[in-house]
Amino acid sequence: MKTVVISPGIATYGAMLIGGVVREAGHEVALSTALAAGDADAVLLSLYSSQHLMDPEMKTFVAGVRQSGRPVYIGGPVSAYPEYVLGELAPDAVVVGEGEVTVPRLLDGGIHPDLPGIAYADGEKTVVVTPPAPKAPVERRPLPLIPDTIGQQSIRGANAYIETHRGCTGACTFCQVPRFFGREIRSRDLDEIREEVRAFREKGAKRLSVSGGTGSLYGYDGAIDDDAVIALLEMLAEELGPRNVSAPDIRVDAITDEILEAIRKYTIGWLFFGFESGSDRILRQMGKGVTVAQMHDAVERSRQHGLKVAGCFIVGYPTETAEDYEATKEFIAAEMLDDVFISVAEPIPRTPLADLVLRTPHQENPVFAPHEGEYRSLHLTEAEARWFDLSQHADMYKPLLHVVTDEVFSLYLAEARKQGEDVRRVTALIEKYDGGRRE
Ligand code: SF4
Repeated sequence: MKTVVISPGIATYGAMLIGGVVREAGHEVALSTALAAGDADAVLLSLYSSQHLMDPEMKTFVAGVRQSGRPVYIGGPVSAYPEYVLGELAPDAVVVGEGEVTVPRLLDGGIHPDLPGIAYADGEKTVVVTPPAPKAPVERRPLPLIPDTIGQQSIRGANAYIETHRGCTGACTFCQVPRFFGREIRSRDLDEIREEVRAFREKGAKRLSVSGGTGSLYGYDGAIDDDAVIALLEMLAEELGPRNVSAPDIRVDAITDEILEAIRKYTIGWLFFGFESGSDRILRQMGKGVTVAQMHDAVERSRQHGLKVAGCFIVGYPTETAEDYEATKEFIAAEMLDDVFISVAEPIPRTPLADLVLRTPHQENPVFAPHEGEYRSLHLTEAEARWFDLSQHADMYKPLLHVVTDEVFSLYLAEARKQGEDVRRVTALIEKYDGGRRE
C-alpha cells in the first residue's frame, strides 16, 4: 500500500519512526511536513499539539482525503485524548498511544473492534476505544524514515531530537510524557542508537539532540546510571563531534558531577532545566518534586563545571498568585540565566493541570482574569501580562546585554497575546469534551 506520514510543520522523531515501521512492514511510504496526500492510498497524520485539533486547514484536509475514499488515521501525542480527535477532525480512526505495533496492523487489516490500541466512531455519537496496545519494544526496531531535508530543519538549533529512552520518573501535572510513555524508563541499546545517528548523518543531519523527557535518565533503573549517560554522550560526540550534540532537558534532581562533566566534554555545553517557577508552593502544586533550593544548587554546580544554564518557566498556572510570580522573578534575577524560555500554562487534555483548569472559575484563572497592574493600558490578561513582563525581566538579567527595542517590545506583546489566546482555545476544548468532569 502507498502511504504518507504527515507531521505538520516539522519532521518529528515520532513521525520518522512510524515511517520506518511502515516501510519495514512492506508498504511504500513517504514523509511530509505539508498537508498533502499526493497519490497515497492511506494517510497517517502524526499530531503533536492540541492546537492542531482546532486548525481549520487540518479539518478541511482530513475531510477532503476521506471524501476521496482514502482512510485517514491520526496518531501522536494527541491520541491520548481520542474523543477530542474524533470529535474535532473526524478521521477514520485514532491510533492511541505508542503506534509502532498498531499502525502496521491497521494498514493491513483496517478498523476492527478486536484490534487493540485504536479509537473510532461507531455511528454519530458512539466512540469505540479498544483495549490498549502492548507497549512497543524499544529494541531491534527499524531505522526511522529520515527525510532528505533533515539537514535544513532546526528545532532549537538541532536538526532532530533522537529518542534514547522512553518515559519519565517525574509526575509534573502539566506534562504528557509520563502519561503517554509511562514512569518506567525503557532505554535503547547504545549500538542501535549509534546506527541511527549514522543514518541521520548520511541524510545530512549535523546536529542532534537527545530527547526523552529528561536526558540523564538514559539507563535509569531505580537510580541515575552515570556510566550509561556518559557512554551515550561520548558515543554521540564520536559520531557527530561535541559541538553538534546537545542534551537539553534535564531535571535539577537528575544530575551528578560526573554527568555534568560529560555534558561539558561531549556536548555544546548548555543545560536546559525545567525550573517552571521560583515558588515552592507552586512547584508543589505542579508536582515537580523539587524545591527552589535544589534549583539554586543545580545552577551553581552546573556553573562550576563551566556549563551555560538555560531555564524554562511557566506563568499563569491557575493557582499562581502575584507573590508566587514575584518569587519567579527573584529566582531569575538571582541566577542571571544564560537563556530563558517562558510559556503560559497550557492544560494538555487529560493531565492533572487540565482537571485543575476545569475546577477553576474563569474569573480566578489568570489566563482569563484581566490584568489590572502596570500594563493595564495594553489590555492583557494576567497570564499574558506575566509572560510579557517576565520576558523583559529575563532579558535584563541575562549575562549578555539585551536591549528591548520597539521591535522586541512589539514581538513580545504579540507573543504574549498569542499564548494567552492559544491557552484559552485549549481551555474551551477541554470544557467541551471533559467539562462534565468538573467538580
Ligand atoms: S520532569 Fe520533564 S518530562 Fe518528566 S514529567 Fe516533569 S516536565 Fe515531564
